[in-house]
Amino acid sequence: MCGIVGIISTKEVTSRIINSLKKLEYRGYDSAGIATLTDGDINEVKCEGRVDALEKDIIKYNLKGEIGIGHVRWATHGKPSKINAHPHSSEKVSVVHNGIIENSTILKKFLEKKGYVFKSQTDTEVIAHLVTDYLKKNSLKETIVKVLKKLHGSFALGIIFKDKNDIMVGARRGSPLAVGYGPNENYLGSDSYALKSMTNKISYLDDGEFCIIKKDQIDFFNNDGSKINKKIMNLS
Ligand code: GLU
Repeated sequence: MCGIVGIISTKEVTSRIINSLKKLEYRGYDSAGIATLTDGDINEVKCEGRVDALEKDIIKYNLKGEIGIGHVRWATHGKPSKINAHPHSSEKVSVVHNGIIENSTILKKFLEKKGYVFKSQTDTEVIAHLVTDYLKKNSLKETIVKVLKKLHGSFALGIIFKDKNDIMVGARRGSPLAVGYGPNENYLGSDSYALKSMTNKISYLDDGEFCIIKKDQIDFFNNDGSKINKKIMNLS
């Protein structure tokens, strides 16, 4: 079990991601991490241990950004360490993951043959490189459809893209994922409690679904990439 959160906004997101991660700590406390986009770059701060330690590092590095993803980890593949902490990033994308990619060893071999270099021992890092590879020849939506088909196992994912500061992707199979609607900003999180201080308007992804989140719009898709409608719930 891990906890994930993502915010896309017109305002700074780091302190709010930290607050949400504190609410998700019941889902994992092996490590914590956050990635934001600042001036077209992916910037990561990660640490072993709890969100309090991450918070101190973030102040030290003065992490800025109006779009970002965060994670608290309960390790399944690779020991609890800073290098295995999420988010996992390639030069183009950054990913947070709750779940287990069962075919990660095969996917890793395939990607290494293509020249991708792995930094961690996690199953999650294959997702960052797979998305990067598919983006070379596919649109963003086609990329997500194709990558999700390649993954065996369970996941809730939050993905941000170096060259697209107006888009965040969420996807779900087997692990929970909530999407929240805010004023000129939107969110994703492992549960609605993590988003409660920002919104009570929530939709839940069902298995096999993904979404493309902008600050003023959320589009939902089934596993073939066909658009679907989701109910918005008002939580009290
Ligand atoms: N399998 C991933 C890891 O070990 C995510 C862990 C989880 O969701 O429990 O980093």
